[in-house]
Amino acid sequence: MPVDASEALLCWYAVDKRRLPWRAEKGAGPDPYRVWLSEVMLQQTTVAAVRPYFEAFVARWPNVEALAAAEDGALMAAWAGLGYYARARNLLACARIVAAEHKGLFPDDEAALRKLPGIGAYTAAAIAAIAFGRRAAAVDGNVERVVSRLHAVKEPLPAARPKIRALADAMIPDPGAGDFAQAMMDLGATICTPRRPACGLCPLRPDCRGFAEGLAEALPYRAAKGERPVRRGATFVAVRADGAVLLRERPLHGLLGGMLETPSSPWEEAEPDGNSARRYAPVAADWRKLPGLLEHTFTHFHLELSVYRAEVGQDAQPKRAAEPERCLWLKPRALADAALPSVMRKVLLHALEERRVVSPAARASPAPRHARRRSA
Ligand code: SF4
Repeated sequence: MPVDASEALLCWYAVDKRRLPWRAEKGAGPDPYRVWLSEVMLQQTTVAAVRPYFEAFVARWPNVEALAAAEDGALMAAWAGLGYYARARNLLACARIVAAEHKGLFPDDEAALRKLPGIGAYTAAAIAAIAFGRRAAAVDGNVERVVSRLHAVKEPLPAARPKIRALADAMIPDPGAGDFAQAMMDLGATICTPRRPACGLCPLRPDCRGFAEGLAEALPYRAAKGERPVRRGATFVAVRADGAVLLRERPLHGLLGGMLETPSSPWEEAEPDGNSARRYAPVAADWRKLPGLLEHTFTHFHLELSVYRAEVGQDAQPKRAAEPERCLWLKPRALADAALPSVMRKVLLHALEERRVVSPAARASPAPRHARRRSA
């Protein structure tokens, strides 16, 4: 990218940058803790979704030492709703290493940052550039889009990634790497958007080959990819007379590790029929299958759950197969702060009479876009 285009981008950023709670105010230096926390939260999540979580986290845990001292369960509960829960476990592990082994100071170069839990190539580059002014290429989907359009890269993704990365690297000014990284992020998020890029407002337009060739919106090209696989299962909502719901802690490792769930069958390709599904019911009871299917999309698969509900006695005990040592009864008031992932909050909203049982905080979680009638 010509030097004047790089300068044009930085001038645009100085005036039009987004005001985000993790960014340093004018005249103040960046805080590596806030940069790291925001970058981990922003992995596969939007700025709008992250903002309230970030503000709640820094209010409760204002520095890395405070976060390192957090209880695992408290942190998982505070994270609930942001998804991709391995990130929360890595966040805590990383904070504890930085507090214990680095005297509370984040390493200031990409290679050392990458050795910490939950910090991959992009996050390491972003932290190195933004927090420490290092000349590092932080290339995410936004930056890929801007670079592929700016240079009219016609090879499809993902094969084009090394080329895009090299082009991005060649653009980075020194000094100014931190502002440049954030300027590219902002341009990709607000001007050079996936659909209908606002080329008329773009500081890079004089140098943009994609615009000149009429390819702005079409780029980047992508190789065709297969559909997400579908997994299916059954989940069981047992409700006592006092409103308490039976939940089970998921195994620590793997998808949604350490989070709570309504006891469920395995999630597999084939849908369990009514009789085989009921084998996974955690309590002996008169289980009623609710109409519709609960749907939720994870990164690598789409989930369809049949939801069963039963009213059970006050002294109901989980069966041995339900692994009673991992089960607990939670009253409605406790659901709001429980480490329940979004998919399980959807299950509860689907199964319970919302106004009577689910607390306001649980209702505030992502809308139940879930229940669709099975076609005949
Ligand atoms: Fe993107 Fe258009 Fe700017 Fe080119 S001119 S970088 S296509 S917004």
